[in-house]
Amino acid sequence: MENKEIKILLAAPRGFCAGVVRAIEIVEKALKKYGSPVYVRHEIVHNKNVVEDLKKKGAIFVEELTDIKDNSRPVIFSAHGVPKKVPEEANKKKIFYVDATCPLVTKVHKEAERHNKNGYKIILIGHKDHPEVVGTMGQIPNNKIILVENVIEAKKVNLSGPVAYVTQTTLSVDDTKEIIEILKNKFPDIRGPIKEDICYATTNRQEAVKKIAPLCDMFFVIGSSNSSNSKRLVEVAKKAGCKNSELINSEKKLPIDKIINCKKIGLTSGASAPEKLVQDFIFDIKKHVNVTIEEFISIKENVTFKLPSVLN
Ligand code: SF4
Repeated sequence: MENKEIKILLAAPRGFCAGVVRAIEIVEKALKKYGSPVYVRHEIVHNKNVVEDLKKKGAIFVEELTDIKDNSRPVIFSAHGVPKKVPEEANKKKIFYVDATCPLVTKVHKEAERHNKNGYKIILIGHKDHPEVVGTMGQIPNNKIILVENVIEAKKVNLSGPVAYVTQTTLSVDDTKEIIEILKNKFPDIRGPIKEDICYATTNRQEAVKKIAPLCDMFFVIGSSNSSNSKRLVEVAKKAGCKNSELINSEKKLPIDKIINCKKIGLTSGASAPEKLVQDFIFDIKKHVNVTIEEFISIKENVTFKLPSVLN
């Protein structure tokens, strides 16, 4: 071990949000109540470790209901939400389902439905093909929602009549603000949520990163490469002043050569990453250098969501 000392600035809050805790608990409770296997449509949350752990307990992950081999077994819909046609298909096939969509995503679905009922044309700010975006677009028939991914697309939107917007829950708070400003200039009467639909967990994790990143030589975000909120945290850290920011997951080797040249590194984890991965990361660094840890708590969270009553 090198006789060197580095400081880890640990962001808080980090890691699991209330929607992720609820979704994982739904799969575990379903396995207990109905036995295995229980099917799960799409990764319940975007984290390989969580998925592998649930597989060991008896969950089978599929992408579509047509991939289910035994329709007599229950299926769980992931935390990201599903288009309306998915529960409809399950009902048609008489597949029993439990919906683990995060209540904060369901809130966005309801907003979109309300705007549609009231005759508004709807813009969704989000990332194409992300399952949450597919789910929200699928709340309204005939693909009527218009997706805007960035500032350039916002400038190009051309619509007449009443317009409303909703957003994906895991976007960058600052980038989304810019897009909303453009839309408000174009459509002064546009309807939307008071701020945006970005959830408390995404906002809080980004705020914590903004405070720490400018103080660090390198910044690490523990999270899977398909986790939207984790990828946003890397961007936020870079924008806040730490250019050497990267995502760390099971496919990536610890960049220890770079780490040992730092005095201070920042560390956080996405909303779907278990705390064990953060602690493993710290443990691995400790094998090479002396480490002191300082935790920065920017806000305390106390959000919890109820489980679906069918599992009680
Ligand atoms: S990141 Fe936000 S919207 Fe997504 S599951 Fe967590 S609380 Fe719900």
